[in-house]
Amino acid sequence: MQVPHKEHLYKLLVIGDLGVGKTSIIKRYVHQNFSSHYRATIGVDFALKVLHWDPETVVRLQLWDIAGQERFGNMTRVYYREAMGAFIVFDVTRPATFEAVAKWKNDLDSKLTLPNGKPVSVVLLANKCDQGKDVLMNNGLKMDQFCKEHGFVGWFETSAKENINIDEASRCLVKHILANECDLIESIEPDIVKPHLSSPKVVSCFSCAKS
Ligand code: GDP
Repeated sequence: MQVPHKEHLYKLLVIGDLGVGKTSIIKRYVHQNFSSHYRATIGVDFALKVLHWDPETVVRLQLWDIAGQERFGNMTRVYYREAMGAFIVFDVTRPATFEAVAKWKNDLDSKLTLPNGKPVSVVLLANKCDQGKDVLMNNGLKMDQFCKEHGFVGWFETSAKENINIDEASRCLVKHILANECDLIESIEPDIVKPHLSSPKVVSCFSCAKS
């Protein structure tokens, strides 16, 4: 049996307006469960997810939940510090949460860059897609355009409730981070960036599309 010899630890932020499903996405991804009982979290919370990326590589993800502080406006630099990537989440049933996405992205970009000065990789999650597609998601092309204009590396329709596309979105983000890291250390390992087929739900991972 091959023993993994490459280990990566990444801090990932999960941000977006209150109630969009950030805590639920983390719970689903890390603990494989979901609760419809609403409880706003207080204080910073984080969870660890271990991915066996390939036979040689283990990726540990430290997922930071913004935890109720979104009410108080912008997050501090301390919270963002040393993150390698982020999910920005909105709720497809509440258009105002989509309108806030650009604000979250700008805030993040203004407070956090990689050591090489590039922005961190960010994936947009259109959550609660189990509640119907009528609200915002009828036009995949518009979403692609929005994401490209705002510098997202991809977007996914997700459901924490039905467990849709959360793994796929995470793989997209991790793939970008690994590729960025290769760039940072100037040693390209093309094998790391593998094409990944996602589920038939609407998704767009720009690097997947390229690979
Ligand atoms: P947060 O404030 O962004 O962390 O949001 P929560 O994770 O606390 O979720 C807010 C509410 O939305 C809770 O009642 C969740 O059960 C519900 N919720 C979260 N994700 C989904 C989803 O994918 N589908 C549906 N239908 N409800 C969800």
